[in-house]
Amino acid sequence: MSGRQGAAISRDGTFDAFDLCARRATLEGIVDATTLPRMADGVADEGGLARVAWRIEGTSDALGRPALEIGLDGIVPLECQRCLAPFEGPVAQRTLLLLARDERELARLDGEAEHEVVLASVPLDALELVEDELLLTLPFAPRCERPECVGAATAAGAAEERTSAFGALAGLKPAPKNE
Ligand SMILES: [Zn+2]
Repeated sequence: MSGRQGAAISRDGTFDAFDLCARRATLEGIVDATTLPRMADGVADEGGLARVAWRIEGTSDALGRPALEIGLDGIVPLECQRCLAPFEGPVAQRTLLLLARDERELARLDGEAEHEVVLASVPLDALELVEDELLLTLPFAPRCERPECVGAATAAGAAEERTSAFGALAGLKPAPKNE
């Protein structure tokens, strides 16, 4: 029974975070990000697979407090907000998540602001943690780095500047006379 990774996670996908830390155990898997409910909007439709390998490791921080290290590695298809073309966004994230035993500890640890904190008095949902981290990792307005896209943005920026210069000139015209 000891040491088997499967034993730490229950059938509904939840696990006891403090137990995971005590046993220094690790949960891991691969998830298709397009299947995560809160990811649906952020992921390009025709992108196909969004395979992200995840790891949740029971560990401790520098002060010996129980923590989870969440690791994400993979590719998520995104839609560029500049040229609307799909592109592959790399994901490579490590996050240390301190565990709080109750609301009071949650508030105290949260005040330190150095780490993320999660209330772990109840079983945690592994995929929900993974989804949380993934949402924090992905850019709010993703932009690809293809030269034609970056170049178009520069041209658009220049055009906008010209427009606003004309706007400023128009503002200098004398106001139409009223009766
Ligand atoms: Zn683009």
